[in-house]
Amino acid sequence: MKLFDLTEKVALVTGGNGGIGLAMSKAIGEAGATVVIAGRNEEKNSQSIKKLESLNIKCKSLIVDVVDEASCNQLVENVISHFGKLNILVNNAGTNIRKRPEEYDLDEWKGIIDTNLISMFTCSKASFKYFKDVGGGKIINIGSMHSLFGAPLGSAYSASKGGVVQLTKSLANAWAKDNIQVNAVLPGYIDTTLTQQARIDIPELQLRVEERTPVGRWGVPDDLGGIAVFLSCEGSNYITGTAIPVDGGYSING
Ligand code: NDP
Repeated sequence: MKLFDLTEKVALVTGGNGGIGLAMSKAIGEAGATVVIAGRNEEKNSQSIKKLESLNIKCKSLIVDVVDEASCNQLVENVISHFGKLNILVNNAGTNIRKRPEEYDLDEWKGIIDTNLISMFTCSKASFKYFKDVGGGKIINIGSMHSLFGAPLGSAYSASKGGVVQLTKSLANAWAKDNIQVNAVLPGYIDTTLTQQARIDIPELQLRVEERTPVGRWGVPDDLGGIAVFLSCEGSNYITGTAIPVDGGYSING
């Protein structure tokens, strides 16, 4: 159906070489788009490309360090030089260091903000003129339950993910007239390398999440595929500036 068809679209997914980013890349690719996955780790990039190619998805990997503005600008330029256009940007790259607030070095704290929040601004800004060239675009920013809640061991992560929601609203407001829709997705607790470490740092987390989540289980990366396609396609053209939880009901269980 054309509403949900991404044929002829080119999508760029930061952190697309693993976890949620790879699952979103797969879903967007299966809906017809050419997908560019971008990360720092060349080995992860090529393993992920093999997985996507085995599904007959048109894809390419590029190296980026999203904390570096020049690297983000170069990434977007490389997408344009390879594919001639950009229609969809998924700002997914993210990181965390779990510590009590008083234990962080300032550089560590700022590094999380740089990776999770400032990179979204940088990549979105770099993409803006190319979206205008094709008459519009879609930006999907990955927030978190920590866009909504504070965390004693995640002051930088929560601050960055709260900022993601406000940045999303601001870009959506600024660029609506350019036919660019900007939305945030707030995943619940999803089984990836990021949360594998969290479950080591916080042993009771596994059970705590299962008990609070109404659907009764942790999420898996593929649970994020549907929302990625929906927010990338024409079916969501009147939706902008939102922050949509994909969390098995975790955030509505008080
Ligand atoms: P992963 O650790 O599997 O993925 C993180 C991705 O970010 C990797 O692909 C990594 O690529 C990339 N990345 C990190 N730093 C940089 C950097 N400086 N430059 C380029 N790429 C970078 O974790 P998830 O899939 O879980 O996380 C993806 C997103 O989802 C993050 O924004 C995270 O905060 C968010 N999220 C995750 C939740 C979960 O429960 N798992 C819940 C809520 C939100 P590389 O290794 O090549 O650098």
